[in-house]
Amino acid sequence: MKKTICPICEKAMPGQWNEWPEYPFCSKKCRTIDLGRWLGENYRVPSQETPSTFPDEEE
Ligand SMILES: [Zn+2]
Repeated sequence: MKKTICPICEKAMPGQWNEWPEYPFCSKKCRTIDLGRWLGENYRVPSQETPSTFPDEEE
């Protein structure tokens, strides 16, 4: 049988993959790390930097 490994910490999990509550991650922590990486890459795009949070309402 193929061993399933957590893509974040690369820990081989015991038992069947469908026994993991957080598949394909070994734990909620690894799921959060993965999500953070994902969002981090989206936010890293520097081309559209907004100088202020709110639009200028003067005028
Ligand atoms: Zn993990």
